[in-house]
Amino acid sequence: MARPEGEREIIARIRQAAGSSGDLLLGIGDDCAVYKTPPDRVSLVTTDTMVEGVHFDLAWHPPLELGRKAASVNISDIAAMGGLPRFALLSLALAPAFDGRWLDAFMVGFLAVLAEHGVALIGGDTVQSGHESVLAVTVLGEMAEAELVTRKGARPGDVVLVSGFLGEAAAGLALCRLGLAHEPDWQTLVAAHLDPVPQVALGRALAVSGLVYAMQDLSDGLATDLAHVCTESGVGALVMADKIPLSPVLRQAAEICGQSPLDWALSGGEDYQLLFTVGEQQVAELCTLVREQTGRELFAVGRIIEGQGVFLEEAGQRREISYRGYEHFR
Ligand SMILES: [Mg+2]
Repeated sequence: MARPEGEREIIARIRQAAGSSGDLLLGIGDDCAVYKTPPDRVSLVTTDTMVEGVHFDLAWHPPLELGRKAASVNISDIAAMGGLPRFALLSLALAPAFDGRWLDAFMVGFLAVLAEHGVALIGGDTVQSGHESVLAVTVLGEMAEAELVTRKGARPGDVVLVSGFLGEAAAGLALCRLGLAHEPDWQTLVAAHLDPVPQVALGRALAVSGLVYAMQDLSDGLATDLAHVCTESGVGALVMADKIPLSPVLRQAAEICGQSPLDWALSGGEDYQLLFTVGEQQVAELCTLVREQTGRELFAVGRIIEGQGVFLEEAGQRREISYRGYEHFR
């Protein structure tokens, strides 16, 4: 099948648009990119794949916002360790229907997010796919080893916190599916789905504080992501339903869609807020520090407990919610 544009033209566009960085010795154009590794720092590497029809729907996802999201969801994984994103690689397997204008808009969005975070595009690949398009992004980051925050450090007694409203992206997706994406009332929720914001500055502040024991980003919903932290740390968790931050507009959308706002928060996924644990005695100190440095409020939603499993306490009843979030192979 004829493609409207050859691979060389696509690479030329990407190369022209790619940024640079002081540590980058060779970017796009040779067999490998080459960058200097700063001494006394560790490198972080993460990759994520988005498949048309599974992770995005072209019926309502404009190319610019999709480009932004492809960059943001990967940068979010660097933020989840407290790292600084530096370089990105982009591999596109494009369905025959894609044209140059679509790709230009996608690249404008992708590169805008990289620029917002000082990330240089250093390589990638383009191939033709059969029917669905596949977007694969790799992001490299760096940080001081001593500041690294993994999923592993949660201890019984720790308070579990999240960095913002939950369920917003799931509500946005539901509204897009109902054809309500353009209604002014729902723009915050729709934007949360189409164009999520990676929490890099907050992740750095939390890591540098030295007060956070375990952290990850909320990609699959609180139920599943907290279960990951608990499994890696060898502990359990108890979440209080009435402490989960739900915005007024989310509650309104839930009524329109006939959904539970709490289910969206627990199982919806793609919020890309940060989830982390802090010693009980340090919560107030951390909240003050974060408010001063980033202007952000933090929300305590529960507690780490002995044993295993994630439990939700709602109206005096306890039920297990471990891994009840979005799961790809369910
Ligand atoms: Mg993650």
